[in-house]
Amino acid sequence: MRALIAGAAGFLGSHLADALLEEGNEVLGVDNLCTGSLENLKHLSSEPRFEFLEQDICCSFDPKRVDYVFNFASPASPEDYMRLGIETLMVGSTGTRNLLDIAKKYEAKFLHASTSECYGDPEQHPQTEEYWGHVNPIGPRSVYDESKRFSEALVTAYHRYQEVDTRLVRIFNTYGPRLHLNDGRVISNFLAQALRGNDLTLYGDGSQTRSFCYVSDEIDGILRLSRSDEHTPVNIGNPIEWTILECAKAVLRVTESKSEIVYRPLPEDDPSQRQPDISKARRLLNWEPTVDLESGLKLSLDYFRACIEAAA
Ligand code: NAD
Ligand code: UDP
Repeated sequence: MRALIAGAAGFLGSHLADALLEEGNEVLGVDNLCTGSLENLKHLSSEPRFEFLEQDICCSFDPKRVDYVFNFASPASPEDYMRLGIETLMVGSTGTRNLLDIAKKYEAKFLHASTSECYGDPEQHPQTEEYWGHVNPIGPRSVYDESKRFSEALVTAYHRYQEVDTRLVRIFNTYGPRLHLNDGRVISNFLAQALRGNDLTLYGDGSQTRSFCYVSDEIDGILRLSRSDEHTPVNIGNPIEWTILECAKAVLRVTESKSEIVYRPLPEDDPSQRQPDISKARRLLNWEPTVDLESGLKLSLDYFRACIEAAA
């Protein structure tokens, strides 16, 4: 199979490229490098089954025949998407549409990386796929949340009206090697701060929750979904819920750091809780995560140490 991965130079896209190549597929990685980095792909420079195209997916392009289109292109960390607000709205609308047109033209299967942010600041807990969400349409996170919700509607419309063979994965907070050191997400911030001996910046009182999935589990779930015939959204995430204060303490334990925790203001509209109900993924895909948070943090340490050394 020849797969197109949009967002291939990013954290998840580059791991997906590795997994598809590992299975013997050909991969065309497409990325405009607005938040990703070629560093994430440099180990593939002599891989003959991998090609890279620097391209903004908001501009139409012809990748030639592809059998599968994976759409992972979008700024994803709150700092990135708030800095690139309009770009984020455009990639989830025009960008997603361009990729759907490619899938239609070549009769390729299509998988779109959606997000737990579709649930906004959820009033249903844990979140099942049937929950419609609680999203502020004009708040600071709206550029991302509404972009992703529009993408879900567009993907579903291409399935309903144009018979494109689509899948939607709702990804919950995922972490691991190749997360950008400075993208402001909680795991990258805490690990970098702890390893540098700096204070860990806890936003709010730390009672808000997230459920963290290690990248190998996430990619396994996504690949299983890519081979299923499920067209409605499927949550892929680790259902073990942590307060952000507990997460900070876990990072301090794993890094054996003497850093202090300092409190900073909670960003506007920061969701107070987030936990996936993964019954659907268990039932349809026979999938569940296997790596707990502390093991995943340990598996990420070498990468973050190397990034810090390189940045020094
Ligand atoms: P990332 O920032 O590392 O990767 C996104 C990639 O998309 C980057 O390489 C970026 O340069 C590229 N990109 C952005 N706009 C583009 C455009 N217009 N044209 C071409 N390329 C473009 O982020 P990530 O964490 O790997 O996220 C990948 C996808 O998964 C995103 O769609 C994100 O919304 C989704 N997701 C991630 C998480 C997570 O916890 N990591 C959670 C939910 C959803
Ligand atoms: N957070 C924090 N300190 C940081 C970075 C993030 O306390 O240095 C909090 C943030 O306010 C949120 C949670 O950690 O409640 C997860 O933030 P992240 O940006 O990783 O992703 P989100 O799930 O909010 O999109």
